[in-house]
Amino acid sequence: MPCGNMQPGWQPSATSEVAEKPRYCYSCRREHPPGHPMRRVETRQGYRWRCQATLDAARLGPAARDALGREKSEANRLATRRSMEHYNQYRAPRSEG
Ligand SMILES: [Zn+2]
Repeated sequence: MPCGNMQPGWQPSATSEVAEKPRYCYSCRREHPPGHPMRRVETRQGYRWRCQATLDAARLGPAARDALGREKSEANRLATRRSMEHYNQYRAPRSEG
């Protein structure tokens, strides 16, 4: 769970809000439970909620974002490898003739 692995001493910043009900995070594309620090961000589509963890990761740079998204990308990599293996079966040279 990418947003659940915050440090014990982590405090939400003054500008973030702690959700009192489940909030859909457009960054993680899922709801975060009440008590999760969320921030309201303005997009072209209007206001969206985003968890503080993903905002912090974006600010800290690609390394932190990588750590946050590792779970997701690992799943993607496995899926890609599986499809590549499938593809290679058809690409494999024939043993006869
Ligand atoms: Zn989130």
